[in-house]
Amino acid sequence: MGASMVFNQFWPFIQHCHLCQTEAARPHTVLCEGCHQDLPWRLDTMQLDQTDIQVLFDYAWPVDRLLHLFKYQQRLELLPIFRHALQQHSRIDVDAIVAMPCSAARLRQRGYNQAHLLAQQLSTLWQIPIWSHLQRVKQHTAQQRLDRAERLSNLQDAFAVSASQQPPARILLLDDVLTTGASFCSAADCLRRAGAIHIEGLIIASHHPATPQFDTAQPVTQASADSTDFSSSDDGRTAN
Ligand SMILES: [Zn+2]
Repeated sequence: MGASMVFNQFWPFIQHCHLCQTEAARPHTVLCEGCHQDLPWRLDTMQLDQTDIQVLFDYAWPVDRLLHLFKYQQRLELLPIFRHALQQHSRIDVDAIVAMPCSAARLRQRGYNQAHLLAQQLSTLWQIPIWSHLQRVKQHTAQQRLDRAERLSNLQDAFAVSASQQPPARILLLDDVLTTGASFCSAADCLRRAGAIHIEGLIIASHHPATPQFDTAQPVTQASADSTDFSSSDDGRTAN
């Protein structure tokens, strides 16, 4: 048994930084001060389709890489880093947290929904229940191959609320990454149609420096449609 193991045995509260592996200088956190400071913090609010969305990070190094590993490579041991990030946000007073759902097929393929894992962390932190009756009934097909009408209809029926379920009045919709925001708007619309009154968003990392110019109520121009890259969108690399 090495000296450090003996030491850690008697001082179990000393832990190493989850990013740089040096001894964490900050008590009760998973990151050292340097790594914490170096993250691309944003902690601001953006507006999307008249919905306030809280954003923790810019989609930049190393958060982009961490999210990718967490989402696609089963690196679930990274979850405490995201919990650490969620802890930096003040509690939002809502009735329930809703994780952006993925389809049953995608869930089987991946084995977990990364947004749901994040929602579980937030639920514990803020003592707010998770409402899990929003379903993804259709994954996006690759948007680039669709014309404008197909792009819009492709999103319209992507989500559904379980029959006989009434959504809570105030909902926080949580997702890991916001790219165009199209999926977010579609899910929020679905919740509103089912009876939710107030919806806010919380996103770990956003590609947008400011409010994206995407509005589901407006026609998509050819230019903006062409720039809409669902292949690396809110829901994954391959238009899921
Ligand atoms: Zn560190």
